[in-house]
Formats: sequence, structure tokens, C-alpha cells
Amino acid sequence: RICVVGSANADLVVRTRVLPKPGETVAGGELQLLPGGKSANQAAAAGRLGGRVTLVGAVGDDAYGRMLIDSLEASGVDVAGLAVRDDATTGTAMIAVDERGENFIIVSSAANGLVDEAAVDARADAIADADVLGLSFEIPMGAIIRASEIARANGTTVVLNPSPFALPPVELLANVDILVLNEHELGQLSGLDPDAPLEAHAPALAALGVGRAVVTLGANGAALLVAETTADAAAVTLVDAPRVEAVDTTGCGDAFTGALLLGLSAGDDLLASTRTACAVGAIAATAVGAQSSYPFADELEAFLRE
Ligand code: ADP
Repeated sequence: RICVVGSANADLVVRTRVLPKPGETVAGGELQLLPGGKSANQAAAAGRLGGRVTLVGAVGDDAYGRMLIDSLEASGVDVAGLAVRDDATTGTAMIAVDERGENFIIVSSAANGLVDEAAVDARADAIADADVLGLSFEIPMGAIIRASEIARANGTTVVLNPSPFALPPVELLANVDILVLNEHELGQLSGLDPDAPLEAHAPALAALGVGRAVVTLGANGAALLVAETTADAAAVTLVDAPRVEAVDTTGCGDAFTGALLLGLSAGDDLLASTRTACAVGAIAATAVGAQSSYPFADELEAFLRE
């Protein structure tokens, strides 16, 4: 069993030739309304692959909220822990993407911002019953810390994806078993240049109490980093991503994380889980959107057979 505590957003996506400057109006293509939000994406990725996954969070009592619930259910996610609130709108991300794939994004957290400690406590059983808990940073930090405490007290493995990046508080890091982050986030966490050799980041991670990190490297796959107090003692294992024709890498990191959660919950070790996650992340790059590009179990099998 997997529990993901965090955000669900409606992604409003418009493609435009160039991004507008302040005060400028530009023409865009057709508006796309797509299910998103980091935690909902991760839950959908695990659900599509056949995992038993519960999403704990909140949406508003509105059309976007219903759209998100429908699409999560279609991905096999248990939404009983997703509160439908009448005092907030559903979270949205306004996304503009230009011809070069450059984007800007404005996130209105709305209902996600109301997921507090009490909301997490109300769903404590879903965290306690899970083998693995997935956390990321699109809900209030207090709720994230609380979820990690419930997991720790019940022997649930905690996987933290510190994104959108914020320095994780020590109370949270104390409960984290595995970090999943990209090179940019790794650099922000360690204070080193993101281009520094991976093992160079290990002492900073070890000092933060992080034992194991999975670093995603885009088209280059991922690396398993076992942090030690000296760079010499750190272990780095590289895992290649399958080569694909990338169309849209939105939500690839979340697909990767969702697949990793599933592997770990099924009892696979971190290396095997990372291999599967690389394949799932690569498939997610081959189609437009986040959740809509994630493979179902049979699609992953067919891809791995090719
Ligand atoms: P984020 O989107 O969080 O920055 P990455 O860009 O590192 O994360 O992508 C996450 C994972 O998705 C990678 O580890 C890889 O497995 C897969 N992936 C992303 N882009 C590509 C690509 N162009 N080709 C193959 N796999 C990719």
C-alpha cells in the first residue's frame, strides 16, 4: 500500500509562440485543462501501474475538483482521503509554454493550502496502514511534518520529493528515509554547484541526516546516492533512462517518483525501483501532459519488452 499526502491541481495550459512580457498580450493556442499537482501526479503514476494508492489532500467543491477526482479514479487512485471543501476553490496552475518549450507557471494553491495538521490527523490511518508515504512541497509544511511523524511512528517508509524547492526543516528530515530530487534541487540542498560530481554532494546530505537519495538526471536517467560524511566514502550508482523521442517532459519527475513509490511498496530494493522509475519517467516524456502521459501496467510491460 502507498499513501501520498499533498497537492492536486487543475493545470490550465496554453501554448504561445513567445511568452508575454509584463503588460503585453499575446495570442495562444487552445486552452487545455489537464489533471495535475505533484502529489496527484505521483499517486496517478503508481495507480496506473497497479498500485494500491490513497491520496490525502483537498480539492474545492467545483468543476475542476470533480475533473480531478474522476481522472484520479480512472487511474486507480483511492480518493476517499481527498476532502471536497466548500470553503475553497480547487488548486490551479496557469501554465504558458512557448515554441522552445520555455514556460512560466503561476500556481494558486487554494484548497491545497488548507491541508493542515488536523486534515492529516483525520487521515492518519491511511498513512499508518501504508508501506510507503510520498511527500512533496505543495501543501503547508506543518502538514508535511505531521504526516512524516505519523509514518515514522508506524514504520511507514518516508520518501520526500522536496519540490517546488524549499529547505526541508530538520523535524521533517529526521523522518525521511529516501530523498528523490533533480540535480537543481540537489544543488540547492547541498549548497554546491549542481554540476559538481554527485559524490561531492554526499557530505552535505549526510550532515542533514539523509542516508539515501535518488537524483533524477533527465534524459540521462537517475543516480542512487548513498550519502557518507566524506565524498570518498559515498556510493553512486548510475541508472540509464531508456532512449525515447521526448515530446513533453512535464510531470516526468512525478511519474518517476510515483513508480519509485510503487516499487518500494512492492518490496523491491531501491536500485530495482529506480530502474523501473526511469522507464516510467521516459514513457511520460513521450506524450503531452502529466498524468495523461503516464503508462498503465500493460503499457510499461510492452515498453520493457521492446
Ligand atoms: P524533473 O522533471 O523533476 O526535473 P527529470 O527531468 O530529471 O525530473 O526527469 C525525471 C525522470 O524522467 C528522469 O530520471 C528520466 O527517467 C525521465 N526522463 C525525463 N526526460 C527524459 C528524456 N528526455 N528521455 C528519457 N527519459 C527522460
